[in-house]
Amino acid sequence: MDEIGLYIHWPYCARICPYCDFNIYKNKAGMEADLVSSMLIDMEHWRVLSGPRNLVSIHFGGGTPSLLSPKSMHNLIERAKALWASIGDLEIGLEANPKDININTLTVWRSAGIERLSIGVQSFNDDALKFLGRDHDGQMAKRALEIATDIMPRVSADLIYGWTKGSPELLQKDLQLALASGVTHISTYQLTIEQNTAFGQAAKRGIHKAVDSDTSADLFEQTIATLSVNGFDQYEVSNFAKGKDASSRHNLLYWQGGDYAGLGPGAHGRLTINTAHGRLSTDGKRIATIAALKPQDYIARIGDCGHGISEKETLSPEDWAEEYVLMGMRINKGVSLSRYKQISGHALAPEKIKQYAAAGLLTKQGDRLSATPKGRLVLDTLCHELLI
Ligand code: SF4
Repeated sequence: MDEIGLYIHWPYCARICPYCDFNIYKNKAGMEADLVSSMLIDMEHWRVLSGPRNLVSIHFGGGTPSLLSPKSMHNLIERAKALWASIGDLEIGLEANPKDININTLTVWRSAGIERLSIGVQSFNDDALKFLGRDHDGQMAKRALEIATDIMPRVSADLIYGWTKGSPELLQKDLQLALASGVTHISTYQLTIEQNTAFGQAAKRGIHKAVDSDTSADLFEQTIATLSVNGFDQYEVSNFAKGKDASSRHNLLYWQGGDYAGLGPGAHGRLTINTAHGRLSTDGKRIATIAALKPQDYIARIGDCGHGISEKETLSPEDWAEEYVLMGMRINKGVSLSRYKQISGHALAPEKIKQYAAAGLLTKQGDRLSATPKGRLVLDTLCHELLI
């Protein structure tokens, strides 16, 4: 049976961070029951769309899904397991704010079925956390990691680098503290300034909150070097894992061109529908979906038509193949050239592959094409060159 992952978007946050441009809303008391009931109906619709599948992951993202009650988490998880066949090592992950983490919440999340926690540490430095508008401090982040690594089987720490008052020394301290916590997964994100955010507005007034691209590239190289020396494998551009089972199986579905149902306001989904059996069938089509953005519109849509999808498009072979490359080249396993050909109907830029392999930016091993560490530093340009 083909695989599927389930993404559940919880759109509420206790407060809005000045750099965030996700589909998020200030937390509102009393919204949970309606939204969760709607998600359960939407999930039934996704089961009709996908047909029988092996469920490989459930991921609670957001927003701040650690604000969702454990009872609702449990109900969503149990319904998903009832609708799709779940394999033995089903990944069930939750993104959590350090402020929401204590022994009690960890215990109830664990009983609800959560087995992987992704903690939004961002930094352990109080000045950095203030600068980033976060509502936790360094001590809270340290404590959250300490107790989470005791109770949860798998824990990841998210860090942000590239803020203007940062420095290589501060970044090194953050990396060392994350390493010392015993987590087996670290995600590092470069601070990027999006227009429709408070930091974006500040940039329009000439106040810059993020470092320039050269400084950022230096910080990124420092991150890679530090984590690699400590046994972490950079299995994706921004994601590092130590040990066999530490990678995010849910995110790997995205990067490998797998299928996922997108539940909740603004959630994206992808579904490959084959008319012949098997995922590699050439006569299949790939559908991209987006759910209604605002929570009240999402709920209303489900009330009106039994599902929350507001945009649904069959990707053209070109768009599908492009997405396959853009996502797949982010991971160290890269892409399958035969799969690319199957989707697009033509080979992927053979001459350019030779040229960039000679320049040390790409590696081709059998059917697989991947970016070298040097190639990863210019990945966007490299992919663009391969695809034009
Ligand atoms: S907590 Fe996360 S999702 Fe919410 S506003 Fe901050 S960065 Fe965005």
